[in-house]
Amino acid sequence: MNINKSILLALFLSAVLTACNDSDTVSAPMPESAAATEVAATSDTVEAKADKDVGVDYYGLSQDLQRHSSLTQINDSNVQQLKPAWVLSLGDNRGQQSQPLVIDGVMYMTTHNATFAINAKTGRQIWKSKIEYPADTVTCCGITNRGATWHEGVLYRVTLDNHILAINPVNGDVIWDVTAVDAKLGYSMTSAPLVANGIMITGVAGGEFGVRGFLDGWNPKTGEHLWRFYTVAGPGEPGGDTWQGEDWRRGGGPTWLIGSYDKELDIVYWGVGNAAPWNSLLHPGDNLYTDSVIAIKPKTGELIWHYQFTPNDAFDFDGVNDPILADIEIDGKPRKILMQANRNGYFYVLDRTNGELLEANQFVDKVTWADGIDMQTGRPIVAERVINMFKTGEKTELWPSALGGKNLAAMSYSPTTGLAYANTINVGWNYTPKEQEYKPGVFYIGMAFEWVFAKDEPRGYLRAIDPLTGKAKWEFPTDVPMNGGTLVTDGNLVFSGAQTGELYAFNAISGEKLWEFRTGSGIIAPPVTYQIDGKQYIAVTSGIGGVYNHLSGDVTLKNINPGGSVWVFELGTGNNTSTIHADPIKPIMAAVASTDTKDDEAAWSATVKKGAELYEQTCSHCHGVKMVTSGTTYDLRSFPKDDKARFISSVADGKGSMPAWGDKLSAEEISHIYDYVVH
Ligand code: CA
Repeated sequence: MNINKSILLALFLSAVLTACNDSDTVSAPMPESAAATEVAATSDTVEAKADKDVGVDYYGLSQDLQRHSSLTQINDSNVQQLKPAWVLSLGDNRGQQSQPLVIDGVMYMTTHNATFAINAKTGRQIWKSKIEYPADTVTCCGITNRGATWHEGVLYRVTLDNHILAINPVNGDVIWDVTAVDAKLGYSMTSAPLVANGIMITGVAGGEFGVRGFLDGWNPKTGEHLWRFYTVAGPGEPGGDTWQGEDWRRGGGPTWLIGSYDKELDIVYWGVGNAAPWNSLLHPGDNLYTDSVIAIKPKTGELIWHYQFTPNDAFDFDGVNDPILADIEIDGKPRKILMQANRNGYFYVLDRTNGELLEANQFVDKVTWADGIDMQTGRPIVAERVINMFKTGEKTELWPSALGGKNLAAMSYSPTTGLAYANTINVGWNYTPKEQEYKPGVFYIGMAFEWVFAKDEPRGYLRAIDPLTGKAKWEFPTDVPMNGGTLVTDGNLVFSGAQTGELYAFNAISGEKLWEFRTGSGIIAPPVTYQIDGKQYIAVTSGIGGVYNHLSGDVTLKNINPGGSVWVFELGTGNNTSTIHADPIKPIMAAVASTDTKDDEAAWSATVKKGAELYEQTCSHCHGVKMVTSGTTYDLRSFPKDDKARFISSVADGKGSMPAWGDKLSAEEISHIYDYVVH
């Protein structure tokens, strides 16, 4: 496509729209004569669009997951006037990763334990329905839900204990409720279902608990189970020979983020997560279809093709990141492509009709686990230091870490600018391979790790990436990586929220920061936009939590309080009506340095050593690696040294938001953990 022409057109369309609005304080730039003719020729459609209600019908905005909106009323010339329209508390202190849907003027929202219908113009709650969970409900990386699905007048969502609910959008009543799989085996469900060709498809989480991943197909009318595709191939199945012995039974391959759908080709594309456990010595072979993207027929679950990003994954490089679909020109030819910024640090472009690898380029500064991607075989060239680490068992620094070059934060792609907008992460880790016995429902990773934060370097960047080169056209560095996702609009704007609470707007072409507003907590969810009665809104969920907050121990987040809410913004009148301006947060380097353990681990008693091992398997994913927490979960380093009885009962039976571990840990094991905590 002719990108420059499209950008020009979009800019002038936005100028015209601004001029048509009643925001009289903005002076729209005068179009030049040639472009003015072009605009005049399309003015009918422009006006029609300005009046039309535009909802948020899908997770990802559309099923290609582009998170691109053609709305232009809010644009690069007036975004400084953006101000809060309303805010609604969700009454939940867990991490909020939910993306709102907006259907016929009603916003549908989820938290892990409630579903909401809200008037999208006024913010008044219409109904709320609650979900109760068993006390021992556990997930790897934060108790969460990422949003609902709308299909033919019914709302659908999943629950952490693997129920799928069909909900009456009028009153929140459950129409049907089916269970996909037993939560005690380590499975959970966190992401919106996908409906493709009349079939509802759901995935599962649990890659850190040694599950065997799968996708399920359902009849959305009745909840009838139609098919299951196991993402870990069993003996005798195609790909089954990429596993040894019984490894496939607990091989991982979770499917915890929603896929994309090409209606014309009738193919669903879904990313598959890590092989389990992380230590790859414990699962020799390529381990299909872990860390792959799979292309399947929605009616049957039949596999059409697959591409594996990271064979025999040792690094938790889940391949689940959003597989965005776009039609672009490569070497003068139009191509139907799928693009993904993978956890492993490479930006992939595939031909989505057949899985052919077209490009694989580094999109983060440091990739040390591999020396590149072999374009003939499509396989990574594993670095010498990794081969040596597994030979010697020695602690080795590697980049990126399990957090990935990019994590779950939803990327957006604009066909207008030709750029992909991604929250990237600049954090490494020290990796030590370990032996570990599998135990149902317990963290199963087979290694020990600590994070590596580079001194005096930003820990993340919002980057505008050329999909064909992986190179950033512009970047916005942050002290704490943004991990919520992006939205791009034809108002030439990119929106993205920070874990420190700010929602930002940038010029999509130049990267200039145009506006910011600090919400009440940290943002780990993707923004959306919609239009009702001729007025455009921007919405985002705020509420700190999730994988980075729980696992990183990043003390820069110490003063960010939990508390879920939906924030909605509209254009005000007058200049620069955003009344709250964020101070840049400086990294607290001294404090970070002080989190380095000064413990002499060699001098620990046997029970403290055992306790440390159990702690990392069962407690670290909420209370932080080595008990270093970023502040929103209980800091165990402050647990009173003389209250062993309270410790043991809290762990065994659960307490407040803490799940019960009595079924998974013996009294002796809990005692070892106590000895480690107070040592
Ligand atoms: Ca994982």
